[in-house]
Amino acid sequence: MGKIRVEGLKKNFGANEVLKGIDVKVEEGEVVCVIGPSGSGKSTFLRCMNRLEEISAGKVIVDDQDINDPKTNINKVRENIGMVFQHFNLFPHFNVLKNIMFAPMELGKQSEKEARAAALRLLEQVGLSDKADAFPSQLSGGQKQRVAIARALAMNPDIMLFDEPTSALDPEMVGEVLGVMNDLAREGMTMIIVTHEMGFAREVADRVIFMDGGYIVEEGTPEEVFGNPKHERTISFLDKVL
Ligand code: ADP
Ligand code: MG
Repeated sequence: MGKIRVEGLKKNFGANEVLKGIDVKVEEGEVVCVIGPSGSGKSTFLRCMNRLEEISAGKVIVDDQDINDPKTNINKVRENIGMVFQHFNLFPHFNVLKNIMFAPMELGKQSEKEARAAALRLLEQVGLSDKADAFPSQLSGGQKQRVAIARALAMNPDIMLFDEPTSALDPEMVGEVLGVMNDLAREGMTMIIVTHEMGFAREVADRVIFMDGGYIVEEGTPEEVFGNPKHERTISFLDKVL
């Protein structure tokens, strides 16, 4: 069981071992926040979840499929996993609607009519119904990130991965993006979120994972990790960020 199962995951870049044996299980509908210092391997860990990185050892199992097995159709797996990055990576030459419609149409999942209707619904969901015709350059950072979330949702994924989705935003725009993520969490989306927003993690996460030096040093409920951290490294990290 487990929507995502990570067993003995190691990843090195040349001689640099960045993930040193990670074991994690994420249940369907669970919201897991990953925290930890810069360089601890959080992004690499996330990128291994949809094989954006080839792993060095261990296993990543998504919906009972070993995603690194050559027999697994990784494109099919990826269709089910939405990813949102720190930098929004919208297509600059497409308007908002086309950004959202592009993947489902390109992959033949939806007709243009269906894709348009779905995109308009998603824009409403992220509070941007009035921006359908705007181009990315005409949007604020918070609006761009909400479009990026809508675009990821357009493939109708049942897992969403977020890598510091609010780190590039001006402070006044962080809340609008976290609000959309909070809604998704409440609707039962399975989510892994790398974040520096400790208040959000505390409020929304079912489980918090603290990574340092390529290891999971500590994990538990937000109450456990924030309220009663056990490891020296967790305590010193939280001292710096809280
Ligand atoms: P975090 O997201 O926690 O800041 P990362 O996963 O981005 O950490 O990086 C962890 C380590 O892996 C860093 O030392 C980084 O330099 C290294 N690293 C990440 N991606 C690559 C890459 N493509 N090639 C070489 N080294 C990398
Ligand atoms: Mg990172």
